[in-house]
Amino acid sequence: MFTMEKVNKAIARLEKCMINPENAIGDLYTGIDLGTAYTVLTVIDSEGNPVAVTYRFAQVVRDGVVVDFTGATRILRELKAELEEKLNRELEKAAGAFPPDTGNSTVKAHFYVCEGAGFEVINMVDEPTAANNVLNIENGAVVDIGGGTTGIAIIQDGKVVYTADEPTGGTHFSLVIAGARHISFEEAEDFKKRPENQKEVMLMVKPVVQKVASIIKSKIRGYDVKSIYLVGGTCCLEGIEKVIENELHIPTFKPTDPLLVTPLGIALSC
Ligand code: ATP
Repeated sequence: MFTMEKVNKAIARLEKCMINPENAIGDLYTGIDLGTAYTVLTVIDSEGNPVAVTYRFAQVVRDGVVVDFTGATRILRELKAELEEKLNRELEKAAGAFPPDTGNSTVKAHFYVCEGAGFEVINMVDEPTAANNVLNIENGAVVDIGGGTTGIAIIQDGKVVYTADEPTGGTHFSLVIAGARHISFEEAEDFKKRPENQKEVMLMVKPVVQKVASIIKSKIRGYDVKSIYLVGGTCCLEGIEKVIENELHIPTFKPTDPLLVTPLGIALSC
């Protein structure tokens, strides 16, 4: 049963790695999220307890497609080694993920990057299904606003019945900020994420948030969507849920750290 409290608890445990690695039960499983902006690794034990998380800003994937195979494999190897040192255990079994609505070749590319980094890939899952492993929504729409794209999944009776992925995400927010403030993309990325800048950022990017809302509106047309659940790093932006709710007139929820929902759900799909 969905409660935002349960979701927030799982994420808080993941962020603080409350489980001492020495208390991890059974085998460890790694969820691998190769994103447009971040590559995220999450580790759970055989009972689903979060054990560790690490991530790095890396532009090795664009619009869900691996554009730098060698770079992606290297970064993943490095993050794997970092976690193995921290946990003092080898990480073998893993699950990877792919954006909804992507072809077989994209799924294969994500698979080979994970395998090339030394993992035994036991599952590949689409991102909305992974997110719903954490949210456990019976009915509603999961909207994943990431770095490069916005993924939309409609859930009915606990099952994903429709998915769409559109190339608008946090990268576009940063481009708008860079233009408005005459700063580089990297500076805009940094500016956007600082808590003290959130109100100013929202003033600049509101039209892009409204565009995202109009994308959601067009994709959910024809479905009886009574609630929207936001995940993905871009939803960290303060007040984004209110703008989307105002545009769509549908109750809109987001967990405390929407960036970590999908990565945790990928690990849970192992
Ligand atoms: P995609 O799903 O499109 O492949 P991704 O998996 O890299 O991309 P996420 O990791 O979910 O996407 O989110 C990354 C995006 O979140 C980046 O654009 C980043 O700038 C943005 N982001 C992260 N933290 C914040 C924050 N506090 N405020 C606003 N945006 C943020």
